[in-house]
Amino acid sequence: MLKLAVIGDPIEHSMSPLVHSCVLSQLDIEYSYEKTRVEKGNLKEYIDYAVKKGINGFNITMPHKIDILEHLDYIDKEAQYYASVNTVSIKDGKLYGYNTDALGYIESLKSCGVSIKDKNILILGAGGVVRTLTKAFVKSNAKSLCILNRTIKTAQKIIEDISKAKTSLEFGDLSDSTIKDKCKTADILINATPLGMSGYDGEFQNFDFLDYLKPESIVSDLIYNPPKTRLLSEAENRGLKTLNGMRMLIFQAILADEIYLDTKIDREKIYKKTIELLKNSY
Ligand code: NAP
Repeated sequence: MLKLAVIGDPIEHSMSPLVHSCVLSQLDIEYSYEKTRVEKGNLKEYIDYAVKKGINGFNITMPHKIDILEHLDYIDKEAQYYASVNTVSIKDGKLYGYNTDALGYIESLKSCGVSIKDKNILILGAGGVVRTLTKAFVKSNAKSLCILNRTIKTAQKIIEDISKAKTSLEFGDLSDSTIKDKCKTADILINATPLGMSGYDGEFQNFDFLDYLKPESIVSDLIYNPPKTRLLSEAENRGLKTLNGMRMLIFQAILADEIYLDTKIDREKIYKKTIELLKNSY
């Protein structure tokens, strides 16, 4: 039996057990999947427990994606590039680290017929996930990338950490006027803040910036709960194409299961069925 887990803090809200259950049950895999709260600083204790319990692999969410690096025996090339690991496979007591977040997002766009190449991308927020996505966008030859953040220094640091990019890079504040200005040229607008997330007490003050986007622009919210944030609903009302965070969540889970099972999965087929299965419980 495949023994899996997800760790993080907080972890109660995580939909990973549900998503992996939908994927693995379609593949007829006998599995267990536990959700474990691991506080910052307690990774070593968890790893000892996981190895002893015969856990085959675990997914990682906040705040361990960087801290895990020093505990690994092998770090995949992509994960080294992102300096972030969200998937650990355990074999013969050795830990192998991977990152499926970035490819998960890019696959989710691809499944909507959108490619990153030559696109102008505007990201709101500069947290852990943006650090990874930014590198992936540069690698996928985005035309330009602009990160706007409440704490401008964090956006600046992400941009400065990227060297030798063909992509034109910019950062700025999250003021209404800056967002509006940057929306004028954006092909893809991504919300990577928790504004609008279920259980989070914060929302965009207004959505007038959406009026500045081109009619063919895409509005992508990394949030998956609720499935339709106010941002996406306002974008839809303006006739813009939208994408929520569910596709990313599912694709990064499928990619992680490919690693645990050491096999290729028909991603699009499993994705479609997973979405269907989730409709009843989400
Ligand atoms: P994080 O590291 O905690 O970063 C949060 C970002 O949001 C920071 O840039 C922060 O700005 C900004 N922010 C927080 N509260 C804000 C507010 N009230 N007003 C304006 N900005 C605010 O989080 P993360 O891991 O990058 O995740 C970001 C989002 O992506 C979350 O909503 C998360 O649920 C989602 N996500 C989705 C998936 C998926 O599979 N769909 C995967 C990963 C993450 P400061 O720097 O100023 O604090």
